[in-house]
Amino acid sequence: MAKQEEIKLQEQRAALAKQEEAKKQEEARKQEEIRKQNEAREREKQAAANAAKERQNSTSDNSGSGNVQASVDKNEQQVLVTKTGSKYHNRKCGNGTYYPATLSEAKARGLTPCSKCYGR
Ligand SMILES: [Zn+2]
Repeated sequence: MAKQEEIKLQEQRAALAKQEEAKKQEEARKQEEIRKQNEAREREKQAAANAAKERQNSTSDNSGSGNVQASVDKNEQQVLVTKTGSKYHNRKCGNGTYYPATLSEAKARGLTPCSKCYGR
């Protein structure tokens, strides 16, 4: 009888250990997910920064060919938005903090083009 109880205890312990293990794995998975999300966000930021740089480079040596739309398909057009503003800009336009966004993102948020940047 004592042996049986010992076996029971062992089984319980094993079950507990399994639960513990499962919990740990779940935790690890969550952490991994968070890390991936952060990585993805970081990559997006980098991509946006690179796109902005590329745009600056390409607009400066695009001397009046009139074919500005060429690269837009592949790399979505980048615009600048503010946290509270209802406009999007193509450059830092006055005071405030500007965040990069794609044109379609800005439009999806209901923003309209700034008349100073896109005027005339
Ligand atoms: Zn503007």
